Amino acid sequence: MSSSETYQELWLRVHDLEIDEVNGVPIPLSPSWQKICVNLSGGADSALLMALLCAIIQERGYKTKIDAITFDRFWFSKPWLKPISEQVFLHIKSMFPKIVDKHHISFLAPELEECRVNLEDSHETRSAFTMATYSFNDYHCFYNEDVGAVFHGRSKNASTLLDHPHRVKRRDNPGPEEMLEKLKRSEAYMIRPLLFVEKDWIIDQFIKNGWEDLLKITRSCGSNLRYLYKGWRFKADSPPPECGECYWCAERKWAIDKVV
Ligand SMILES: [Zn+2]
Repeated sequence: MSSSETYQELWLRVHDLEIDEVNGVPIPLSPSWQKICVNLSGGADSALLMALLCAIIQERGYKTKIDAITFDRFWFSKPWLKPISEQVFLHIKSMFPKIVDKHHISFLAPELEECRVNLEDSHETRSAFTMATYSFNDYHCFYNEDVGAVFHGRSKNASTLLDHPHRVKRRDNPGPEEMLEKLKRSEAYMIRPLLFVEKDWIIDQFIKNGWEDLLKITRSCGSNLRYLYKGWRFKADSPPPECGECYWCAERKWAIDKVV
């Protein structure tokens, strides 16, 4: 049984949803949802997920609208992130003007990125960023009665880069049991259909759908001004070139070399 089949089974057990399949990856969606949100960072994964959801909604004739949620993170050290997310949002809106609705932008202080917080009634801790994401998603899901779910585009680390020192280890191999535990808890509304795919699958969907223009305006590089772009002056319309050294650059290069 493949990982994605296991994931689909989990979803069917916890929710009662229609499952669309995009090149072997199950994407749960309900035609009854008036609105869904997508966490949109400006990177390739979340941009692809949002465009795929639009395409499914359009093809099936659902009435669902999509809002994007972006966190303005690292405003001082990576000031291009927010403008890029806005460009990506507007591009997807131009592709699917009848489906894409609003772009909600929330702020996260950079000091909180590395900070961990205790969960109420638990010894467990989570990053402040994770908590902020869940809180904002909770706000949209539970205080806006129209929102059926929030989609998150996190994908799996490339199997060929598992020894890269800068990779995020929790993306190595999320197991189905871990996912079931998460689904049972408060984030049951958060759908992560790309957890079991690697970047080559992501790039391949851009190509298969003819969305290369969208791919080009996304940015994967994780480097910041302090280390790699010292002295560079930020202009919203001209972010620095991708560094070519960080994990995210290596992953994108590996995937594009493999697919294109
Ligand atoms: Zn980079």
